[in-house]
Amino acid sequence: MEEIRTIRNYVAGEWREPDASGTLDVENPSTRAIIGRVPLSTAAEVDSAVTAAGRAFEGWSVTPVTRRVEPLFRLLRMLQENEETISRTLTEEMGKSLPDARAEMKRVYQNIEAACGAPILQNGESMIGTATGIDGETIMAPMGVFAAVTPFNFPAMAPFWFIPYAIAAGNTFVCKPSELTPLTMELLARFIDRAGFPPGVFNLVNGDKSAASALIEHPGVVGVSFVGKSDTCRIVAARCAENNKRCQAMGSAKNHLVVMPDYEHIGALIRNMSTSCYGCAGQRCMASSVIVGVSEEVYRRVSDRFIEESKSFIVADPLDPDMADEPMLMGPVISETAREFVYRMIESGVREGATLALDGRDPADLEDGYYVGPTVFTDVTPEMTIYKTEIFAPVVCILKVDTIDEAIGLVNAHPLSNACSIYTRGGYYARKFKLEARCGMIGINVGIPAPVPFLPFGGIDNSMHCDIKMQGKSAFRFFTHEKVVVERFWEE
Ligand code: NAD
Repeated sequence: MEEIRTIRNYVAGEWREPDASGTLDVENPSTRAIIGRVPLSTAAEVDSAVTAAGRAFEGWSVTPVTRRVEPLFRLLRMLQENEETISRTLTEEMGKSLPDARAEMKRVYQNIEAACGAPILQNGESMIGTATGIDGETIMAPMGVFAAVTPFNFPAMAPFWFIPYAIAAGNTFVCKPSELTPLTMELLARFIDRAGFPPGVFNLVNGDKSAASALIEHPGVVGVSFVGKSDTCRIVAARCAENNKRCQAMGSAKNHLVVMPDYEHIGALIRNMSTSCYGCAGQRCMASSVIVGVSEEVYRRVSDRFIEESKSFIVADPLDPDMADEPMLMGPVISETAREFVYRMIESGVREGATLALDGRDPADLEDGYYVGPTVFTDVTPEMTIYKTEIFAPVVCILKVDTIDEAIGLVNAHPLSNACSIYTRGGYYARKFKLEARCGMIGINVGIPAPVPFLPFGGIDNSMHCDIKMQGKSAFRFFTHEKVVVERFWEE
């Protein structure tokens, strides 16, 4: 039998065997096979990573920007050359389909590419003659050691929302990936190791919330990027505020798709909506989980077609060779705990009076993994638990309203407003929606309005506990201190 490996930390340019206070099993959620062990790093191990990063900051922060991006270009090439190996690891530990894993890697590349724009994106501003003989300028200066604590659902992309930008801006970094999906980041760190960064610029520590807390509270860390549940965001943001650290904390989502009555043929819409709801088994912060039909007729038509479409998804092990490239494949949810939660939510929907139009519990012949098939509730009302809660699974609520104002009212009353979309051919409705809907990211006839890395990414209200979004120019604002210099020189 193959030995199960305990993954290692990467500190000061070296791989370190953990002297951790224990390990957790890493499970393949499609088969329940144990595929690794993650060390529960101690506060001392976290401290050694932060100390290494602190030492590396001295040299890295004064390295010219063109030299800082060189290893990122090398890293980009290596990741592209090894995409298939990385995607398979990602699928094995997270359960998303291989096409979804490859798509995630594309976002990793794009974030590296965007960060390589540091020579332009990190430019400050200057104004000659702010007063007589006095000039003013801003310097976007690197700040020190930044840390990221990331979730299970994007084991590659979530860390890369932060690492390349922070490093390109002249900071050093410590990453703590999710204990549920740590293998991908360990693999990515092997490429980071070969990309030519000075030791200590990037460090990896593994563990659960204890290691995360030690990192967040470490006095050597100047700022924290967090992605996870909104409840965890609140804890992390509060701790950062108490410790006077910069923080960006991206949380949970309940994304709405609003369908207006002006589409005669809704086939294309339905496919677009279903991939938004069921991609990665609904475990994406950009996944939609609410459909709002504007008018009785649209509600009926969309419900019928959406339920039919939902039945065409194939629930299977994404690494089954017969299924591997199947575009309509849906893998499992991440864990037994997650599936139990989904089942409890489904039971609450039934108890509270919604109609369970399609029940995805216990899909046939799939006892080995944590599978949930597409599940659709109709007759949902805003008071129901299934509407109010992020279920983070392939469970969709369909609601009816009579007007666009009511639809926008629903979106705006929901506290987990990460993204929302409208399907309409009418410019008037589209404009009204984009101006009035309170959401971080808005789609017009686009079911997953995830911005490319050159634009800012983040929600609003309880979906984002911070002011500065991720990606692009925003990332450089987060990872730098905007120093202002007011200067004058007298004539000798
Ligand atoms: P989670 O909050 O359980 O865990 C995320 C990370 O936080 C993990 O690394 C974990 O070890 C750590 N952690 C857990 N409790 C902690 C605590 N008390 N203090 C410090 N750290 C702690 O989230 P998850 O289940 O891994 O991820 C799914 C969630 O992430 C969903 O709610 C999803 O919507 C959200 N998400 C949001 C975005 C976004 O951009 N808004 C993107 C991806 C995922």
